[in-house]
Amino acid sequence: MLVRSTPTPRLFSSNPQDSTVLAAGTTTVAGLGTDLSTDRVVLNAKLEPNSEGNFVYPDSDERLTAANAFSAVANAVSSTESCWGESIQWATRRPKLAVNPDAGQDLNAYYARARGGLFFFHDTDALTGETIYSGRSSEVTGHEAFHAILDAKRPAYLGAWDPDPGAFHESMGDVGALALALQNDRVIELVARQTGGDLRRQNCAAALGEQLGLAINHKVGHDATGGPWTRNAINRFTWVDPDTLPSHAPHDQLSSEVHSLSRLWTGAMYDVLTGIVQDNLAQGQDVQTALRNGGSELLKMQGRLLSPGMAPDGSFRFKEMAQALLKSENQLNQGKYSSLIADVMDQRRILLKGASLTDQDLSGSHSVSVTLAGDRFGPFQGMEVSHTVSGEEGRGLTENQQERDQLSSRMARLIANGEILMTLPNQDPSKLNLFKADGEPYKGVVVWTEGKPVIEPTYIIG
Ligand SMILES: [Zn+2]
Repeated sequence: MLVRSTPTPRLFSSNPQDSTVLAAGTTTVAGLGTDLSTDRVVLNAKLEPNSEGNFVYPDSDERLTAANAFSAVANAVSSTESCWGESIQWATRRPKLAVNPDAGQDLNAYYARARGGLFFFHDTDALTGETIYSGRSSEVTGHEAFHAILDAKRPAYLGAWDPDPGAFHESMGDVGALALALQNDRVIELVARQTGGDLRRQNCAAALGEQLGLAINHKVGHDATGGPWTRNAINRFTWVDPDTLPSHAPHDQLSSEVHSLSRLWTGAMYDVLTGIVQDNLAQGQDVQTALRNGGSELLKMQGRLLSPGMAPDGSFRFKEMAQALLKSENQLNQGKYSSLIADVMDQRRILLKGASLTDQDLSGSHSVSVTLAGDRFGPFQGMEVSHTVSGEEGRGLTENQQERDQLSSRMARLIANGEILMTLPNQDPSKLNLFKADGEPYKGVVVWTEGKPVIEPTYIIG
């Protein structure tokens, strides 16, 4: 009789946090092919195994970055697919999301739709002299993976010129990374020790991108992020109309910049998680089980929200996303956490109690286009721009004019903030540097078609 031995799964270096929080451990990759890819994710770099045939390396070995970035993204995607019970089709129009583990010198990471995937970088910590690789933090890789996942589910958000969809993208990255971290035994153990199950206490899951945040603060020479993290889900921000917010603000205030504004929605989702874990504890679950189930529920909740007919298909305001979250909870989870969500959204002043759930029908979407007219658009005057807005069209001439006026105002602000890249008619858009001097991607770029300039989104998000 022929006995086939099952091949030993190959191990990868993996850090569910980063080296300032935990030492790297190892993981396997579900569905690993022979070419360092899964059905959905591919490593876009060469990686030689160690002498035992595994992809496990010491911290001093540069290969650890690719091992972590690939395994973390592949597992983030497969965990999300199995949690949501669906397969994800990328907005990149390619079957596999490419992981570029070290794309050069920068303290950053980003998702670029047209470039087919995720890009991570390295730089020297200005204080410690240590080389920091953003691809070595599974919170950073998880964040970028969720940009790709959200882009697959709601592609209009990256093309919207309003602040809320961009901020929601950033929040989905942080919430997704946080939920995944709470599926890891070592993180759960540490968070249990740090909090005893009370997530209002500071912990390594709420603190996102610790090592990268420290390096950013060392580079700028002051505490720009509010602590040893890139962002923190524990905050008390309440809703303010983003149109009235400054373009940039210190860490303890909200601005209309997407990473800053995202902290409002992330804080609200973290409050929901805190409440779910409290419920779990009250039902007699031990702390570690309560945390694990809380993280899992938070991830499922994102899946329900992004189900067809729930989260808006086009641009939206946070209030509308909160309505969609309640709708998805009511319709797809028997309203289990509806009162918790309603309480949190009321406390955060995102959706006040008593506001009717049916005051606006957001199903469907329609395109809004304007030609920028007036001096406030400077050299962009006369150019066309459009985006997709939630809700069916034809709600009346006044509404249509309001939508066009709003789009014009958004563009004026983005132009004033230097977020739109001007180009010349003979420039090849695929060869342009779409990043500003501060390393952040431009929001839009002028694309010329038969001599006619149109402002288009870059579909890149950091
Ligand atoms: Zn991001």
